[in-house]
Amino acid sequence: MAVSQGRKPSRWLNPAGGYLAGYSHTLNPYSGCSFACSYCYVRRMPVGLFRGEPWGSWVDVKQLDEAAFRREWARESAKGAVSVFFGSATDPYQPAEAEHKLTGRLLELMLERPPGFVLLQTRSPLVTRDAALFAEFGDRIRVSLTIETDDETMRRRFSPSAPPLAARWKALHALREAGVPVQAAVSPLLPHTSEFARRLAESGARIVVDDFHRGDGSGGRRSEQLGMRELYRSLGLESDYAPAAADRFYEGLISRYPGVNAHFSQEGFLP
Ligand code: SF4
Repeated sequence: MAVSQGRKPSRWLNPAGGYLAGYSHTLNPYSGCSFACSYCYVRRMPVGLFRGEPWGSWVDVKQLDEAAFRREWARESAKGAVSVFFGSATDPYQPAEAEHKLTGRLLELMLERPPGFVLLQTRSPLVTRDAALFAEFGDRIRVSLTIETDDETMRRRFSPSAPPLAARWKALHALREAGVPVQAAVSPLLPHTSEFARRLAESGARIVVDDFHRGDGSGGRRSEQLGMRELYRSLGLESDYAPAAADRFYEGLISRYPGVNAHFSQEGFLP
């Protein structure tokens, strides 16, 4: 894994659109992502396609000029409430964050002039390091922790470099106990055991369910290009590679567990 000092970005806050149109901005502290998920839609975006090195083999740590960030944050905040999808093209708590603490510092700077809302998207248990910081945001933050299956064998097939599921469940519970607004992002839903819906419901967390067909920002085209259908076929599960599978899972979740705070696809990720 090559972790390098990246450039000083001309801007940290980029206009949000498409699937994330409910937000005013996206923010990515790193370029690249060492978790290297096979289904990562960023592989099909310019940053993933044109670097010339395999996605997952490189990470650039963007250089933070705090004064410039404060100016940009103040400028955007003056236009209206800023709502940030934090981590749309990288994982803000990937291993590089343990050393560089860039995500943590950006959040501290945001707190000087609190945002309207921040959704922090991660699958890393390192996120619990900043629980006290999240508490300062109150309900202006939601930590969205990806738990796309409860089957560790499947996790290893689809995202072998990502954190083990047990550590993510533990992080989800720790954040809830710390009073941090947290959701389990079942996104994209992967092959799972019959216990998955029950475990999610019993976690007490907000839940959002999404799939390869509605959630990849291209109606499923990127996921096809990334070979997800072939991967399902190789597992003998091709019939599960269909929107009906996530629909069934979601319907089962809300019908079997009344009162569960569950949402579906894009609507579930809105501020
Ligand atoms: S953690 Fe997110 S950004 Fe990183 S490879 Fe996986 S899906 Fe892509």
